[in-house]
Amino acid sequence: MAPNAGRPARTKQRRGEGQWALGYREPLNPNERSKKDDHPLNVRARIENIYAHRGFDSIDPGDLRGRFRWYGLYTQRKPGIDGGRTATLEPEELDDSYFMLRVRLDGGALTTDQLALLGEISQTYARDSADITDRQNIQYHWIRVEDMPTIWAKLEAAGMTTMEACGDSPRVILGSPVAGIAREEIIDGTPAIDEIRRRYVGDPQFANLPRKFKTAISGQADVAHEIHDVAFVGVEHPEHGPGFDVWVGGGLSTNPMLGQRLGAWVPRDEVPEVWAGVVSVFRDYGYRRLRSRARIKFLVKDWGAEKFREVLETEYLKRPLLDGPAPEVPAEPIDHVGVHEQVDGRFYVGGAPVAGRSSGSMLLAVAKAAERAGSGRVRLTPQQKLVVLDVPEGEVEALKAELAEAGLQTDPSPWRRSVMACTGIEFCKLAIVETKARAQELVADLERRLADIQGDIDTPVSVHLNGCPNSCARIQVADIGLKGQIVTDDDGNQVEGFQVHLGGGLGLDAGFGRKLRGHKVTSAELTDYVERVVRTYLDQRKPGERFAQ
Ligand code: SF4
Repeated sequence: MAPNAGRPARTKQRRGEGQWALGYREPLNPNERSKKDDHPLNVRARIENIYAHRGFDSIDPGDLRGRFRWYGLYTQRKPGIDGGRTATLEPEELDDSYFMLRVRLDGGALTTDQLALLGEISQTYARDSADITDRQNIQYHWIRVEDMPTIWAKLEAAGMTTMEACGDSPRVILGSPVAGIAREEIIDGTPAIDEIRRRYVGDPQFANLPRKFKTAISGQADVAHEIHDVAFVGVEHPEHGPGFDVWVGGGLSTNPMLGQRLGAWVPRDEVPEVWAGVVSVFRDYGYRRLRSRARIKFLVKDWGAEKFREVLETEYLKRPLLDGPAPEVPAEPIDHVGVHEQVDGRFYVGGAPVAGRSSGSMLLAVAKAAERAGSGRVRLTPQQKLVVLDVPEGEVEALKAELAEAGLQTDPSPWRRSVMACTGIEFCKLAIVETKARAQELVADLERRLADIQGDIDTPVSVHLNGCPNSCARIQVADIGLKGQIVTDDDGNQVEGFQVHLGGGLGLDAGFGRKLRGHKVTSAELTDYVERVVRTYLDQRKPGERFAQ
């Protein structure tokens, strides 16, 4: 007899995933509860009217570890608490009374006046910290809640904001650092970025999403569009001319997924409307039950691009989109480092700090150097670099020298150029290992040890360091991706180290690096390991073969 014979058949009940559009409105996890209890954007008034006067200890825990993020504020890690102890501590034990603060800079766009102000704020309120993130933000540390009203007043008077720099909201929009001036660009995405920001950033109807929402808009493939929740990539339509190809569902961290093309072509002035439609689909159909499944990639994976486009068109846009071609994929990653001629005959000059480590003093020096060279505009890049625009030819050499003096090399070694690192254990409460300082040591070591083969590296080998299993530094799409964790060394000690992912990439090589079981390296052995991998690659590759192939 079959084991279930005689029992009534059980109907398989599919649990809801917390989609608002299907009626699951009840808060389903603590984050959803917090957002329902009080709209996250309301926290600004409490910071200005209460917490800034009464100090850190007066802050409501729900605001401190939740709603503060909608204004770019996270508590930073208490100095001196190492990764080995973290597992035994409650999150609040890791809280310092200082904050990390992100300033969102959509498209990485800054005037030299704004750059100088960011430098001054850093020196006055952030102990000279001012890292360049791989999302074109400036990230401060050591911020006190008491100073926030003044910092906001200064930023906002200069046209900058921290609104929705973090939280379950539409975060900073990545854009081409050389939009409007690059010879290779198909279309300038700046007007679309500006319009989305004007219409929707801070709009309460888009400020409670299931999770964070990342956007990239560029007229060329220089913003890692494959790993964004939504991306608009420049493409020439055979009948309608330049416009944008729409991608949805890209994301890293756990269950990484490359974005999928909707096969739709959108003219520039319709990008904000289509963007709002995609965000609305996510807001209404996104999975709010479990945080771990709340990114749009899970919805896109379940639905597929075709159904996503159909829902977008029928329920939100109320019209069909035009079909369009795929954008061209560049042969090499584009990072805008070095000197390049603009469409108007002037030049843009891209400089590399190490892994985005910057300071207020550096920003001030760059602002001064750029102005002296006749430029009024700078851009931050998604590769943690900085570009000075509109430089007359006769000023280029002097500017290069001044940038180098400030710590930005315009002709960097392949290592300085291609190493990226997240915040890591210095300030991040989720971190298990050190990253920024490790990246600086690694670059210096590799420059010295691999000087003999530097000329053979025609395509930089990207090395990305993460302090934990999240993927803030995009480890899955690096040639050598390093995920921070505690590992066992040869003597059986538990020490800082990394799980290695090999052979990831974007563009022509779009795909995730392979995580080889047992392929782990201690932090102390890191330089030896990278040196070995690079020498082996150069010895064994066929002519023209890239690392990820
Ligand atoms: Fe922090 Fe982890 Fe992100 Fe690094 S990857 S910044 S350690 S959360």
